[in-house]
Amino acid sequence: MSDPHEVLRTVFGYDAFRGDQEQIVRQVIDGGDALVLMPTGGGKSLCYQVPALVRDGCAVVVSPLIALMADQVGALQQLGVRAAYLNSTQSFPERIAVEEAYLADELDLLYIAPERLSQPQMREFLSRGKLSLIAIDEAHCVSQWGHDFRPDYLALGELAEIWPDVPRIALTATATDRTRREIVDRLHLGGAEQFVSSFDRPNISYRIEAKDRVAGQLLDFIKTEGFDDGVPLTGIVYALSRKSVEKYAKYLSDNGIDAMPYHAGLPAEERAATLRRFLAEDGTVVVATIAFGMGIDKPDVRFVAHVDLPKSVEGYYQETGRAGRDGLPSVAWMAYGLADVVQQRRMIDMSDGDQTHKMAQGRLLDAMLALCETATCRRVQLLRYFGQEIAPCGNCDTCLSPPATWDGTVAAQKVLSTVWRLDREYNGQRYGAGHLVDILLGKSNARIQQLGHEQLSTFGIGTELDQTGWRGVIRQLIAQGFLAPHGEYGVLTLTEASGSVLRGDTTVTFREEAKRVRSSAGRQAK
Ligand code: ADP
Ligand code: ZN
Repeated sequence: MSDPHEVLRTVFGYDAFRGDQEQIVRQVIDGGDALVLMPTGGGKSLCYQVPALVRDGCAVVVSPLIALMADQVGALQQLGVRAAYLNSTQSFPERIAVEEAYLADELDLLYIAPERLSQPQMREFLSRGKLSLIAIDEAHCVSQWGHDFRPDYLALGELAEIWPDVPRIALTATATDRTRREIVDRLHLGGAEQFVSSFDRPNISYRIEAKDRVAGQLLDFIKTEGFDDGVPLTGIVYALSRKSVEKYAKYLSDNGIDAMPYHAGLPAEERAATLRRFLAEDGTVVVATIAFGMGIDKPDVRFVAHVDLPKSVEGYYQETGRAGRDGLPSVAWMAYGLADVVQQRRMIDMSDGDQTHKMAQGRLLDAMLALCETATCRRVQLLRYFGQEIAPCGNCDTCLSPPATWDGTVAAQKVLSTVWRLDREYNGQRYGAGHLVDILLGKSNARIQQLGHEQLSTFGIGTELDQTGWRGVIRQLIAQGFLAPHGEYGVLTLTEASGSVLRGDTTVTFREEAKRVRSSAGRQAK
């Protein structure tokens, strides 16, 4: 077949290219090099699969995800594409069969692990057949600054000199400028055309509010945003644990929402039935762990709700990205609270990884918290994380209803000095948020009496706020890096930045607890 549209239709069953796909496909078919930056789910695979079927010869696809190769190749074979892979999981006869097919020009796509492609024998072997193009997937693995760095990727730059006439296409979902420059430099793609897709999903309205009584907040949200003129809309609610998935699914069902639980612990038949209903019907809500969604491509999901904090901005982006694939207005809603922050911290602290790994996880969480606490446009903050600058969107909660802020310096000093005094006057004792709030409110409960904490000079000095108010202050102090929770019990300690607040050198600004953005704000935009 020589026409890319015909390949798209007859082989893949799609009517039209998406976004930059068409220009990318043309560039490669015409023999040019390309660098493709596209968000996950944007449709990178077709950018090399279609040219592979249009051009003569076999395309080599370099992918570090050996575990996925068999699946990817299997999916292509299902479509009738002549695809195969070479990696270390194969038996000798299997490998020979693939090699013979390649030399006989009976393959359109050949997936290879990067370490193989740095071997001279492999290069010599490939030269004996006909290469149509080289696709380098997950190209950011060449960046020594990222955590996906693969030394084998460095040798891929040489391919430009070995096969100067074979077009190369490098693809990644990482969009920062530094990574892009590194890819161009190390993979010798100076002459490549760059295709930078926007990571923006303008039809999604982002809302993040502070947890208060979360089940009720979720129900309120679905009752206002989950219906269009009384007709229920399709949505996904993400929760962290199987137990809370079941709890929220039941709560919603009890309150008249057609909600079904989905998590890996449910019987396979039940999960399959839930999935079938979700895909086939309109207006169902699935309450699920993050296991739900991989590869689920339902275009008209109108809302995605998070009742627990995602571990990273990438995760949040990917999960919320399941809303509104059809381009119509959709809402990404989340409620999060102090307990979420403490719990995520605890999971990091208690995990098996080494210190470097824990620090990296901590930074991912910090970025997520910054997104939650920002007083400026959510979309600006989100896209900045992916290396893209935009103007305020006018369609997120902070744009629609700019949060009031207040000077929280004195409140911050009260909290921080309580932590400091407990540490200094009581032999390095550390406590969680609940106890600190009791001290600030001057609650003489048994624990306080037993520990003698009524004697602290900060005991009872915080009656200007209630318990919810203080928990909000502590949560925002953590998000701003002035307090750090640790370990199983989420005990709080000062940070390097705390001192300047205690000395009065730094003022601290807090958001008023997020006002609810209601009504059809998401719907009417665009
Ligand atoms: P990425 O590799 O960028 O994460 P994929 O290539 O896996 O994305 O594509 C994501 C999903 O979008 C897949 O289900 C794919 O079939 C679908 N898709 C890609 N391009 C198109 C298109 N032009 N029309 C319809 N669906 C598409
Ligand atoms: Zn905005």
